Amino acid sequence: MRFGFDIDDTLINLREHAFHIYKNNLNKNVPLSEYHALQRVEIHEPFGLTDEEGSQLWKSSLEEIYYTNCPPFEGAVEVLNKLIEDGHEVFYITARPKDHGERTKEWLKQRGFPVVDGHFFYGMKDHEKIHIIKKLDLDYYVDDKPTILDTLSNEPIRLFLKDQSYNRTSNYERITNWSEFFNKL
Ligand SMILES: [Mg+2]
Repeated sequence: MRFGFDIDDTLINLREHAFHIYKNNLNKNVPLSEYHALQRVEIHEPFGLTDEEGSQLWKSSLEEIYYTNCPPFEGAVEVLNKLIEDGHEVFYITARPKDHGERTKEWLKQRGFPVVDGHFFYGMKDHEKIHIIKKLDLDYYVDDKPTILDTLSNEPIRLFLKDQSYNRTSNYERITNWSEFFNKL
């Protein structure tokens, strides 16, 4: 079988990692409960920033957000390695900007994710992911953004939504914990 995965907030806990970076760099002790209550993808609101300020801060912090010690979600590395071990194919489809693609690939390898040459795609917009996913003829695809799964809902692909505070009103089959993934297949 062919399995596709988004990376940020699906396999790795990127926004929470960024939230800690913001707390530190802005020297604001915003409680983590505010992170867990977020109803949108962007994380700047609890820090009292406007959307424009938030967007600026995200961009200027990217290096630190992407390449420090962002933790994978518990069990994610093990699930992907087990898939490979069982003879399946694993693909990564991330909308990270083009100039971060190759470094992200190396970073993932260093964290223990299995990355096969030619199975890593980056630099597209969210709504463009569908083209790669269709071309790859995936059997399964996992993402945290319902809007991306919406673009795929008419395709013969089994879709899963990685649980996040901002996507709880969506009805896609949900992965709350990676340890439950094999039970859902
Ligand atoms: Mg994501």
